[in-house]
Amino acid sequence: MLEPSESKKSYLSFVGGRDVPAQSGETIEVICPSNGRAFATIPRCREADVDSAVRTARKAFDEGPWPQMSATDRGRVLAKMSELILRDREKLARLEAMDVGKIYKSTFSDVTVLARYFEFYAGAADKLGGDVIPVANGYTAFTLREPLGVVGGILPWNAPTQMFGRSVSPALAMGNTVVLKPAEDACLTTLELAKLLMEAGLPEGVLNVVTGLGSEAGAALSGHPMLDFITFTGSPEVGAMVQQAAAANHVGVTLELGGKSPQIVFADADFEAALPVIANSIIVNSGQTCVAGSRLLVEEAALGPLQELFSVYFSKLAVGSHDADCDLGPLINAKQHRRVTGMIAAAREDGIAVLAEGSVAAGSSPDGFFVRPTLLGPVPRDNVLARREVFGPVLSLLPFKDERDGIALANDTPYGLAAGVWTRDVGRAMRTAKRVRAGQVYINGYGAGGGVELPFGGFKKSGHGREKGMEALHEFSATKTIVLTHGQ
Ligand code: NAD
Repeated sequence: MLEPSESKKSYLSFVGGRDVPAQSGETIEVICPSNGRAFATIPRCREADVDSAVRTARKAFDEGPWPQMSATDRGRVLAKMSELILRDREKLARLEAMDVGKIYKSTFSDVTVLARYFEFYAGAADKLGGDVIPVANGYTAFTLREPLGVVGGILPWNAPTQMFGRSVSPALAMGNTVVLKPAEDACLTTLELAKLLMEAGLPEGVLNVVTGLGSEAGAALSGHPMLDFITFTGSPEVGAMVQQAAAANHVGVTLELGGKSPQIVFADADFEAALPVIANSIIVNSGQTCVAGSRLLVEEAALGPLQELFSVYFSKLAVGSHDADCDLGPLINAKQHRRVTGMIAAAREDGIAVLAEGSVAAGSSPDGFFVRPTLLGPVPRDNVLARREVFGPVLSLLPFKDERDGIALANDTPYGLAAGVWTRDVGRAMRTAKRVRAGQVYINGYGAGGGVELPFGGFKKSGHGREKGMEALHEFSATKTIVLTHGQ
């Protein structure tokens, strides 16, 4: 880690295959969440910088080789990228850990998943065929999948490397060009990965990265009239703004806006198997994941033993620096720290018991954004903790009476991203999985968020559109129908 006397590294945006500063020369400090110290800077790009990046991507799409290249050759570039990511895995994982505060084993796993994204879409690039459609005699009709054009990607800070894989690899596989605006708190690996794509053989201008604030660079990108599509992951409020901006230009959007995902535990479940999986789903990345299993719904008959098991587990967890041997790292920034600790304080004021909390590891910086893992309950169904995303290591326990009540409670939030169902009764498992309104449901396990093969996205206010799997290739392409008139 840098000492205060060491100079800060200046990162630059990446446009047209070159490192570029903001036209104004302004920068934003990059803060390490483990100690609150600035260790680098990124450019504070504004409208003119974004315009230049979009025009570059437009030119690369309209005149460059990428959309014309065979899908197999595009796949080869992505396959090479996967190899390069694995070559640089440790370096990328260390940089990501310092930038966003995640513990190293978690960023190492994220970078491994990133490589898998590129491997998957390398193979998928030339597998998406069209249809031959029976029409009137004398004609042959068929469909092609064509790239959309220039894709704008506005990314969140909670999983920068995974998000890069999720948005960039399928967009490139289909022949699009891309402009990314990473979150201001999480740009460093995105900038490194853009350069790595050049080494993999991506033509200049196909992937461009502009850093800056959401209200400046983000707003400029989402409202740019030369975009053909936007993919956004972040808060529901900003998602709505991005969709409005896209509507003004008549372009499509995928929105991934988070969740309040339930872990539904019936009294006949295997508690020992469920405990570490459920706990991990809320402590991984300190609860800052859209698929965090943030509501522990427990059938009343099992409340006592389960509460005891989870309390013991939570009391042993330790939060600390990204480079310490801890269970979880700090939150991303001071704002999120204030927000999450404020929500815990408000819960106490509402009379909700703290059933257990972990510790802050000895030696942790007093300036790090640490929040102890906290188990709260029972949480009333109308309390904010039962309904709103906390985005911190906070698990809310809510009892339910029976299968019908459990399903109703699971669905009782504005969100619908993912869910876990825990029971030994196969019939109940399937009935529950089918009635819960969520984009992904796991039975006796919880791999939510992982698995590039699995289509992923929200119901209700969790957003719309599907990422991952072959479905992402549909999102990043358009059907063209061709009809040949040849006579009988
Ligand atoms: P955010 O929605 O403000 O930021 C997400 C991205 O949008 C960032 O790149 C940001 O720069 C950009 N952005 C911000 N304002 C913009 C605007 N006006 N126009 C265009 N782009 C804009 O999210 P946040 O403030 O970083 O986090 C707030 C909350 O969002 C969190 O507490 C959490 O609940 C949620 N969140 C969810 C996810 C997820 O994976 N679903 C990820 C991050 C945050």
